Amino acid sequence: MTKANEKRVLEWLSDAHAMESEAETMLKGQASRLEHYPRLRQRIEQHVEETQGQARLLEARIKALGGSTSTVKDVMGSATAAMHAAGNSMMSDEVVKGSGLSYAFEHLEIATYRAIIAAARKVGDQETEAVCQEILAQEEAMAEWLAANLDETVLTYLDRDETEGQTAKR
Ligand code: MG
Ligand code: FE
Repeated sequence: MTKANEKRVLEWLSDAHAMESEAETMLKGQASRLEHYPRLRQRIEQHVEETQGQARLLEARIKALGGSTSTVKDVMGSATAAMHAAGNSMMSDEVVKGSGLSYAFEHLEIATYRAIIAAARKVGDQETEAVCQEILAQEEAMAEWLAANLDETVLTYLDRDETEGQTAKR
């Protein structure tokens, strides 16, 4: 166990907190725009709530370890997400591009929590390990749902795209 490793755990927790700010902005943006994909919208809304809970769990761990969340990182994360959302909203296949982005983002989250879990285990921080395992399970469930429902989203999009007078993009 080294001091450097302990500092790294804390730093990664604050990076994860900023990542969840980005996730929340991204997911809220997507959910608010979706009109013709009610199941996708509902699952995203559920994950918004999970994401808010994750941010609270992370903040509690950061405080317990004597750190504080980084407002700069959080705002940057949120700004990145808003930029992505604005870019996506200009695409005629927004829902398909958004699904791809979400799928990629969940895997970024999975990798992030796996790294923290490995580091927390190395320094013997069982609380952080347990919190991140709980969050990891939610990220994996979301990634699996997106994978399992991607074809349905794409096929709905294609059907609507072929139908005169129907909005397909969102
Ligand atoms: Mg998350
Ligand atoms: Fe997530």
